[in-house]
Amino acid sequence: MEDYQELRSNLISMLEELSGRLARITDDVKHADQPVEKDFEERATQAENDEVLDQLGNAARTEVEEIRQAIARIDKGEYGTCMMCGEPIPKERLHALPYTGMCVKCASSAGC
Ligand SMILES: [Zn+2]
Repeated sequence: MEDYQELRSNLISMLEELSGRLARITDDVKHADQPVEKDFEERATQAENDEVLDQLGNAARTEVEEIRQAIARIDKGEYGTCMMCGEPIPKERLHALPYTGMCVKCASSAGC
């Protein structure tokens, strides 16, 4: 069996970095440190920014979830095997995309 300890610690640092980023995005959305703009146009811009930040937040949350699952798969000894077809995922792919759960073929047929 492969030893994924190094990848696992990489995933954990990715998770920590993302959690920090997510916390900052959440702060921005809440306007924790700035008053809400009163001018209508600026308010519209701010609403647009919120939407972008929201999307960023969602993307980061999805990524956090994927990384968590990858770490769980390492712990269960399932990591490195495609969740769809059960074939081994090539090492190069795991290094490029450490939290992937699918081989190239399944990922492209799943559209992600
Ligand atoms: Zn597959």
